[in-house]
Amino acid sequence: MTHARDVVVVGAGPNGLAAAVELAGHGLDVLVLEAADEIGGGTRTAGITLPGFRHDLCSAIHPLAVASPFFRSLPLHQHGLEWVFPPVDVAHPQLDGPAVLLTRSIDDTARGLGADADAYRRIAEPLAERAERLLPELLDHVLHWPRHPLDLARFGLDALRSAVGFARARFREPRTRAHWAGLAGHAVLPLEAPLTNSFALMFTLLAHTTGFPLARGGSQRIAEALASLLRARGGELRTGVRVESLAELPPARAVLLDLMPRAVARIAGERLPPHFTDALLAYRHGTASFKLDFALDGPVPWKDPACARAGTLHLGATLEEIALAERDAPSRVALRPYVLVAQHTPFDPSRAPAGAHTLWAYAHVPWASGQDASDAIVGQLERFAPGFRERVMAVAVSGPRELEARNPNLVGGDISGGAMTFPQFPFRPRVALDPWATPDPGLFLCSSATPPGGGVHGMCGFHAARSALRRRFGRRP
Ligand SMILES: Cc1cc2nc3c(=O)[nH]c(=O)nc-3n(C[C@H](O)[C@H](O)[C@H](O)COP(=O)(O)OP(=O)(O)OC[C@H]3O[C@@H](n4cnc5c(N)ncnc54)[C@H](O)[C@@H]3O)c2cc1C
Repeated sequence: MTHARDVVVVGAGPNGLAAAVELAGHGLDVLVLEAADEIGGGTRTAGITLPGFRHDLCSAIHPLAVASPFFRSLPLHQHGLEWVFPPVDVAHPQLDGPAVLLTRSIDDTARGLGADADAYRRIAEPLAERAERLLPELLDHVLHWPRHPLDLARFGLDALRSAVGFARARFREPRTRAHWAGLAGHAVLPLEAPLTNSFALMFTLLAHTTGFPLARGGSQRIAEALASLLRARGGELRTGVRVESLAELPPARAVLLDLMPRAVARIAGERLPPHFTDALLAYRHGTASFKLDFALDGPVPWKDPACARAGTLHLGATLEEIALAERDAPSRVALRPYVLVAQHTPFDPSRAPAGAHTLWAYAHVPWASGQDASDAIVGQLERFAPGFRERVMAVAVSGPRELEARNPNLVGGDISGGAMTFPQFPFRPRVALDPWATPDPGLFLCSSATPPGGGVHGMCGFHAARSALRRRFGRRP
């Protein structure tokens, strides 16, 4: 551990690995240290129910990874990563009648929305048309010099609104409104809050351009591909090393921490001035998640069989039901929670024994809560897929405490890398022109507690690496 390095990265989540890959690509000697026995953080996959079943422990569906300008620039397919695109990106099942089906085709999606078809086209077509210009802007820090200011301004006007306000103003059909609320629910905020509409717009744009793929074999393949590329570039990875203090690290010109702000404050200790440490300690975490991984003896018996063609499903009968669930989530387990579902095995049978299936589902619950949301989540599944319970052979339960025990970055079960309230979203961990840098010239943050925030896209790590290259290594990347 003692020989000097150019760079040490602490944490082998997608952002730590992305930072390491970028820095190694500039010829620097990079060492990555990971606390867990496996690399990957939020992209880990493991057998946690029955033999032969593989479950994504955290992230499951990857529109952001496919859209990521950094990941797109890397030859990850040559390092074993293969995307699988389900024919339907997102399904929003209804209690009665056909599910809303969001597919790559705007026309097909619009045709399924009845009276809202034209209204939907007016939203989706400009988004898809501007996607190539918008995506790099949206996956950057808000305080950057925009390359396409007009596109960004047009997006921003609608993005600033609440999802509830926007859906009620633009759509007439209850099922379209419910679908819009399902997309916006990824914000992990009450859907009456400003900016929640940005999530629905972003996911609509992604569905019609990149799609909502899964990684063949499990999300772990994303981490493995990044690690393989890192090794090819001369970098080194060590697992089972939990870093408690910067003093434990080998000498390095730059240290990048793929950690949450409070952990950074603890581990950096006196290397950071008190005013900065105080800002890190004031960083807030938000509503948590409660996750269930099922081993099933057959496919999910969706009321609408078209749902079997979707990789991602959002459960919630109406916009009002989803909005109520998201208002409840910070303080109690909702009676009818908004449930996010991923079904992998219809498209990637390698994850379960022949004929059997996995299912991944979670709902939002109070921060650090010890309450059991299993019945509420299964209750929602049962409403849209009667007979679901009978298919369950085993279930692995991960409440907020289990999530954090597995990965210390999931503080109190917060999977977004910090509360999504303004100004913390989008300014994280604090308002700064270079939020990846710290007052210590050799210390940088690269986790999802920096822009552009949560999700598997590696852009936090990429931007942090760029900051380190400029500030510490005098490079002009
Ligand atoms: C249940 C769940 C579902 C999700 N679903 C999706 C999804 O479908 N799609 C999507 O894009 N995103 C999803 N996400 C979010 C995504 O996983 C995260 O935003 C992403 O993983 C953040 O990456 P990161 O590198 O910043 O941190 P992490 O992935 O959390 O990685 C941090 C790493 O640092 C390690 N570490 C922590 N402390 C130390 C220490 N002291 N010493 C050494 N190592 C340490 C951890 O073990 C971990 O490996 C989900 C997250 C969860 C939890």
